[in-house]
Amino acid sequence: MTTGPVPVGSTIGILGGGQLGLMLMNEAHRMGYKVAVMDPDEECPARRGADHFVKGKFDDKNAAIRLARKSDVMTLETEHIPADLVLDGVAAVTALHPGPLVLHTIQDRLRQKNFLAEHNIPQAPFRSVERKSDLPGAVAELGTPTILKGRTGGYDGKHQARITGTSDADLDAAWTAAGRRACIAEAHVDFEMELSVVLVRAANGNLRFYPVAENVHHNGILHTTTVPAKIPEAIAGQATRVAAQVAEHLGHVGVMAVELFWTKDGKVLVNEIAPRVHNSGHFTLGAAATSQFENHIRAVVGLPLGDTRLLRPVCMLNVLGDAWTGGEPSWAPVYERGGARLFLYGKAKVRPGRKMGHVLVLGTSGPEARAVAEDIHTHLTKPGS
Ligand code: AMP
Repeated sequence: MTTGPVPVGSTIGILGGGQLGLMLMNEAHRMGYKVAVMDPDEECPARRGADHFVKGKFDDKNAAIRLARKSDVMTLETEHIPADLVLDGVAAVTALHPGPLVLHTIQDRLRQKNFLAEHNIPQAPFRSVERKSDLPGAVAELGTPTILKGRTGGYDGKHQARITGTSDADLDAAWTAAGRRACIAEAHVDFEMELSVVLVRAANGNLRFYPVAENVHHNGILHTTTVPAKIPEAIAGQATRVAAQVAEHLGHVGVMAVELFWTKDGKVLVNEIAPRVHNSGHFTLGAAATSQFENHIRAVVGLPLGDTRLLRPVCMLNVLGDAWTGGEPSWAPVYERGGARLFLYGKAKVRPGRKMGHVLVLGTSGPEARAVAEDIHTHLTKPGS
């Protein structure tokens, strides 16, 4: 039996009400759906405007099930919701896309890396570091620098350490920075560029890709995304093929971002898989024919996937809490440029490093858009501005 798409007027439940949930909700509303949101924070960005709100921590199965009972179909904006403890229960009540197994595979870095290895998908050499005593052996095998990453719960470079020396003090400092918990150690990759492929996969297996994005991180946090990436066609092809393999082997449904390294010796390696809409796909809302948020909703409710074509070269600049050191920043540097647009997430609390919004700069070329974005960044973070 084939069933049609979830009808307009139905309720889509979103686990997580941060900026990703907010932008998913806005697109879902535009498409005629109602939205129910669960988040631990009553002041989260998606609270305002949600048709239903359930307050609950991400490991609160009862709260998640309350949300599921209000929803005709469910999705999520974060991979940090325990698959076995919570998502299995949700999926027993309402259809959930992506399914619990995708999240189970992704949310532990060791499981994620083993999954990639099983399918011969290229990645940096790694070792499991269950306890501190595993660390000297792992570093000896991988060489320095080694990157140590907590297996669960990390994002934006949190619970990560770069190991450059092998003394007891060096290893102890790294173990502490990674949260004194089970980790993976990864060989440092000498990369030419960081890339991501944002794609959308439908339940029937249809796949569409956005053009490969070029990402610059500062302190482990995404700083800019420029599209199209300035890369050889062969590298773009490899990146897209690798991302497709990941989505297909996972049986993913919805938007997914695959973060990649283009190495100095011409390889494409997977860094990380995000089974959800992604910061490096924000450019699609304003610069692509269909945004990643709309395409995710389309996949989740069973509508045909939308056109992923890029309409204009673009650079997305993240605006972090650091811009608020002198109070609310002046947004004049954004509005003075016709091709730049501001997206603020309405977060109540400002912290350095916290993603408060982003700026989208449309240009005649990627490098030109990026130069404007960097100029805006300089003005926004200038002391006293
Ligand atoms: P992650 O949270 O794993 O995406 O790491 C955040 C950022 O740290 C990445 O985007 C890279 O800039 C850097 N990074 C992580 N792992 C490595 C690695 N193995 N080699 C070089 N840089 C890395």
